Amino acid sequence: WEEVKNIDPDVYNILIKELKRQEYGLELIASENYVSKAVLQTMGSIFTNKYAEGYPRKRYYGGCEFVDELETLAINRAKELFHAQYANVQPHSGSQANMAVYFSLMKPGDTLMGMSLNHGGHLTHGAPVNFSGVLYNVVTYGVDEETETINYDEVEKIAISSKPKVIVAGGSAYSRIIDFKRFREIADKVGAYLVVDMAHFAGLVAAGIHPNPVEYAHAVTSTTHKTLRGPRGGLILTNDKDISKEINKAIFPGMQGGPLEHIIAAKAVAFKEAMSEDFKLYQTQIVKNAKKLSNELSKKGMKIVSGGTDTHLFLIDLSNLNITGKALEKALGECNITVNKNTVPKEKRPPFVTSGIRIGTPAVTTRGMKEKEMSIIADLIVKVTMNIKDEDGNLDKDLIDEVKSEVLSLCQDYPMYVDLLK
Ligand code: PLP
Repeated sequence: WEEVKNIDPDVYNILIKELKRQEYGLELIASENYVSKAVLQTMGSIFTNKYAEGYPRKRYYGGCEFVDELETLAINRAKELFHAQYANVQPHSGSQANMAVYFSLMKPGDTLMGMSLNHGGHLTHGAPVNFSGVLYNVVTYGVDEETETINYDEVEKIAISSKPKVIVAGGSAYSRIIDFKRFREIADKVGAYLVVDMAHFAGLVAAGIHPNPVEYAHAVTSTTHKTLRGPRGGLILTNDKDISKEINKAIFPGMQGGPLEHIIAAKAVAFKEAMSEDFKLYQTQIVKNAKKLSNELSKKGMKIVSGGTDTHLFLIDLSNLNITGKALEKALGECNITVNKNTVPKEKRPPFVTSGIRIGTPAVTTRGMKEKEMSIIADLIVKVTMNIKDEDGNLDKDLIDEVKSEVLSLCQDYPMYVDLLK
């Protein structure tokens, strides 16, 4: 980043601070990851200079011959990776992918049925503060009080009584494998479209270690930056030709202008990486790590929502400990362990406080950490949790120093981007 350093030292200094934060901290946010240097380089490539409104061979700008070659490659790789007949790689984000699919399947005022935010759904699945909650008549389903997993009979009852146009399955904080076949049967029974938002578990699907929703859903949306470990962006897949046409129209000219071809280039690179044997091993290890970390925490007395996980993430329910998610997020953050507070199924606190913490293993697994390190991380999390002094999440300075130095030594054992610091 010599050029940045020379031209804009302010931005350069902030960049270096962030690089150090990522390098020397434990990243346990379930939706984050570390991209490869190949993905990083492609994102910063000259494709950022190019306007390419439209789709390959149907552009509204000249000079698109290489952009066409690139976007076609990305589309073909996405189709191959997820066994889909149609792919749109242009959504700037997961939210826009969802918006495009809703726009192509529903009219404003139609009924959208999604998982409630408190129970693990995403904002775009019908939260009142989101476009999805503003434009559509939203009905929600949640998790069972006892099992804290989806009760499919209950989902069916809600669908029968509310007759939604679209049912969305998938979420941001649900740790169990979702029964897509059952969801499709429910959708068919009530004449609804089934949309699966696989943003979180797309990497597991790509690796073939998780059921593939493309087999069951009318449309599948995703982000490319979570377990899939690509650039920040969105993706839409379908096996239905007519739906694919509507989706393409909804993205452009419906809601976006020029696609981010530098990001599409990086998506193509990430899809190629995701086809490798290494990626399969990586995704398998993510799940092993999440299971190990949640088991260790559970053995040490922490309550895990639904008792565990099948995927890359899980939720700690703090309601029996009299500690808020906000306080624990802050306390762990002081020790360079990054997590996010999250609502839990029987949440009594507001969303900015919460009674839970969401933990994910994609990023630490990218660094190469395995089960042994998960035991160490569990010890650190418990140590911090049990020593929180007040409702603001304050800790004794000695404890912060002790945990921080253990975090640093773990990170030094598993370097990520250190050569970028040279
Ligand atoms: N869908 C799910 C399930 C998500 O978890 C997220 C983001 O966290 C999104 C969609 C939205 O993605 P983006 O942040 O790229 O808009």
